[in-house]
Amino acid sequence: MNAFRNNIPEKTFATLNEHGEYTRLGISPGIINKHYTPAQFQKMAEVVGESGAIKYSASYSILLSVPTKGLEKAIKSLQEAGLYIAKQGSIVAMKACDFCDGDKMEAAAITAQLYNALEGIEVPKRVRLNVNGCASACYNAVYDDIGLVYQKDSFDIYLGAIPMGAHAQAGTLFAKRVSIQHIEDFLYQIITHYKAFARPEEPFYRFYRRTHSAEFWQTLKNE
Ligand code: SF4
Repeated sequence: MNAFRNNIPEKTFATLNEHGEYTRLGISPGIINKHYTPAQFQKMAEVVGESGAIKYSASYSILLSVPTKGLEKAIKSLQEAGLYIAKQGSIVAMKACDFCDGDKMEAAAITAQLYNALEGIEVPKRVRLNVNGCASACYNAVYDDIGLVYQKDSFDIYLGAIPMGAHAQAGTLFAKRVSIQHIEDFLYQIITHYKAFARPEEPFYRFYRRTHSAEFWQTLKNE
């Protein structure tokens, strides 16, 4: 039964990093593109070396355990191979579907605009902002902190999802048909409210569920 052989990995990040000698990097070919080239795979194998490890994750990325000694060089060569390295920490982090492998690219330009404007903004706890390019939402935007579902030059916005655990739940529809002209500002206002009114390290879903009837949500401008 090949599917169940070697279920327990020898080199997890925890075991490798017992003495703090490894760094974990989340790697992908980009926010939209999900296809790696053979050269990129070779580069990943090269930077982890014989001692490191490669793992696939549930968040559209591959996790590399890279020796911390030589980390800067590893990051540079991964980037030169065209790979994107996810930023860590309590920030707004963007995700997106693959826009049907590039067949449905209507929302790609606005997704890039949102990435440039919002990715990396510091917030009380990491916020995952997921853009899906059509109503099928097959990359589960409604299960991320802020889910955007594109339809004809506008987005439906879902908030309050509990992404994992026994109480996992999809977000609820917060705003319908926010135009691509206003979406950046609208999202910026949501993030600003989170920064202003959240408790220290309060996850976004908990914040939204605690405050969803507060007056400041009613004042969001969609125009
Ligand atoms: S959400 Fe829509 S556009 Fe995106 S990959 Fe799925 S079907 Fe394609």
